[in-house]
Amino acid sequence: MMADFDHEQLDFLRERHVRFFQRCLHVLPERYAPYETTRLTIVFFALSGLDVLDALDVVDKPGLIEWIYSLQVLPTDDKSNLSRCGFRGSSHIGVPYSSSKGPGAPHTYDSGHVAMTYTGLACLVILGDDLSRVDKEACLAGLRALQLEDGSFYAVPEGSENDMRFVYCATCICFMLDDWSGMDCQRAIDYIRRSSSYDSGIGQGAGLESHGGSTFCAVASLCMMGKLQEVFSERELKRIRRWCIFRQQNGFHGRPNKPVDTCYSFWVGSTLQLLDVFQYTNFEKNRNYILSTQDRLVGGFAKWPDSHPDPLHTYFGICGLSLIGEAELRKVHPALNISMRAFESLRQLQGAWRQKST
Ligand SMILES: [Zn+2]
Repeated sequence: MMADFDHEQLDFLRERHVRFFQRCLHVLPERYAPYETTRLTIVFFALSGLDVLDALDVVDKPGLIEWIYSLQVLPTDDKSNLSRCGFRGSSHIGVPYSSSKGPGAPHTYDSGHVAMTYTGLACLVILGDDLSRVDKEACLAGLRALQLEDGSFYAVPEGSENDMRFVYCATCICFMLDDWSGMDCQRAIDYIRRSSSYDSGIGQGAGLESHGGSTFCAVASLCMMGKLQEVFSERELKRIRRWCIFRQQNGFHGRPNKPVDTCYSFWVGSTLQLLDVFQYTNFEKNRNYILSTQDRLVGGFAKWPDSHPDPLHTYFGICGLSLIGEAELRKVHPALNISMRAFESLRQLQGAWRQKST
């Protein structure tokens, strides 16, 4: 009996997770109401999750592409809002629905948000769109306006928190648009270097505690810039590897003495993969922990066993399993955080842009 039960816990319930993400795209429980302004990130978790599950055929791709384009903040006729361009998270501000390319209607409080621009572009790539309706110049101008003197980024032009998360979002945007004019890379690199902590992990900013999430954002950003080996010496890289390796308990935690949490199987796991030492972690313990947080009834993953599943932990749980080679899952690009399939199609698009411009 007991052996059967244990065995059952180790099944990866792919079909339930497909249905979990389908529900995320159609209707969300009331407790998600506060996340309305960042709805695009939830759509990203669901879409990229379905992609990794190799189940994108269940989504209405043209409908979603039109919806995402309707969230693009386009320049007005006089281009006075260029520094506010990018993608917004949802239609919460009441700007009229318009998915066509044309001047935006001015609205005092309308602007892009760096994480929405990143996830919006990623969703379009995942859906196989060619990004031809993205106003790249406006996105990059909006991005430049968000960078601070110290190299970090605000999320929105009015100002907000500024930390490593938004450095990562900005890097993903430049990487996907294949245009680094959206940021001062050297300043961003200096910010990353200053965020290295005494224990060799990396914090959200200078003087802050090392954290698995910010270490991922920093290392992945440097990889996308092609600067990892240049910015950190081999000795420093060894110490970062060591800090990350020690985050494994059974699953991974984000900081010393914190409980393990499903999402760090991706944040720390992919950092270790980028640093070429992921193979030295214990895959079996990692897999067992992630699967212990799987909801066997409604699908999805939670951060802890016996907790409610949510789109973020479901997505990163699945990505964590993909990193350790779970059957039936597509490989994930460890820095850009989309499937390798989507990454390859982005590369093809960029190749075509480069040919056009020469
Ligand atoms: Zn978490």
